[in-house]
Amino acid sequence: MASEYNHKQLGVIRLQRRAGCRRISVSVGRGGRITVTYPWYVLRRTALAFVEQKAEWIMAARKRAQQADQKPHISEGYRTRNHTLRVVYNATKNGWKISEEFVVVSLKSGIEVDSAQGQEVIRTALIETLRDEAQTVVPAMTERLAQQHGLRYNGLTIKNIRSKWGSCSAVNHLNFSLYLMLLPDDLVEMVVLHELCHTVHKNHSAEFHALLDRLCGGREKALSKRLRYYRTTL
Ligand SMILES: [Zn+2]
Repeated sequence: MASEYNHKQLGVIRLQRRAGCRRISVSVGRGGRITVTYPWYVLRRTALAFVEQKAEWIMAARKRAQQADQKPHISEGYRTRNHTLRVVYNATKNGWKISEEFVVVSLKSGIEVDSAQGQEVIRTALIETLRDEAQTVVPAMTERLAQQHGLRYNGLTIKNIRSKWGSCSAVNHLNFSLYLMLLPDDLVEMVVLHELCHTVHKNHSAEFHALLDRLCGGREKALSKRLRYYRTTL
């Protein structure tokens, strides 16, 4: 049995009274739709009091759901640097396999590619694909650029970092974001050179920028400007 209630702050709430249900729960679905499910023996006003109690949590959850909805849907044929996305339906379980050319995502029966769950499996698979690609591209590029410019570093790690493209530790260990694989080569090179320059200057002083600009062939400003349009997200 379902009914609706128009909440002052939260808008329309769907109330679902269910046999077999043992406690009151609130869920926020796609698009921020709020549903309260409660046992048959609980009064409607008790269920609504529960909503009141949880109002703050509901608003935060709804904001997250709405933001998640704004992420573009990824569909079959999506291309990363070296892989094309293929989707297999009606699999026994969700999963993925990365081959040389394809990333093949399997979705359990009943899970559509455009559903929140389908998109989540795809995003996870693509993140692992970017990680694989970064492992192939970034260490070799870093080694080449370090040798070319006579710079030294102590190891390198590829991580799922979203707050920055890369970093350089006090002992010159370099960290790079796997999202670098969303950038064209010249921008990846600039990020690698940026971190390599930190092995010489541990700051963003004028000397640091002079060195980086020289190693970028005088293009640091132009490359940085382009980099601003890229995001560490899928
Ligand atoms: Zn820096």
